[in-house]
Amino acid sequence: MLLPIDLGLFLALTAGMGCTLILGVWFWYDRREALLNDPRRIRSAFVCTRCGQTYLRPRLREEAPCPGCGWNNVRLKF
Ligand SMILES: [Zn+2]
Repeated sequence: MLLPIDLGLFLALTAGMGCTLILGVWFWYDRREALLNDPRRIRSAFVCTRCGQTYLRPRLREEAPCPGCGWNNVRLKF
């Protein structure tokens, strides 16, 4: 059995749920983009040309010394 409901109330509830959904998706994508573009997540990879050790350094940088032998290596580019 269907319950009688006021048309104005029905439209207000439907519009409210639609606005809530849009704001929720907007907030979710905003947070997701902020997390993906967090500069703390970006690391640079290096392979030492002297001893062959692979290592990572935080942030985007072009050169970093090898932790094993101290040789200054250039960042790997993919
Ligand atoms: Zn090295």
